[in-house]
Amino acid sequence: MSKQLHLVDEGFVYCPLRRKDVDIDECFGCERLDRMDLDSRHPYIVCEVPPLLDLSPAAGA
Ligand code: SF4
Repeated sequence: MSKQLHLVDEGFVYCPLRRKDVDIDECFGCERLDRMDLDSRHPYIVCEVPPLLDLSPAAGA
């Protein structure tokens, strides 16, 4: 399991599981949610993503 940070933009965030933007309300009950900071200047969430969905260069994909 790896972690991905995604920036929140006007209440929406890119969901690595669904591969589309979702309303952050959907993240509150999500078992993949690692942490979130909605009060910072650049709000973000961090998701735990299964290796097969982690296509970032750091994952070796
Ligand atoms: S917390 Fe869950 S619903 Fe929200 S972006 Fe991450 S995987 Fe998607």
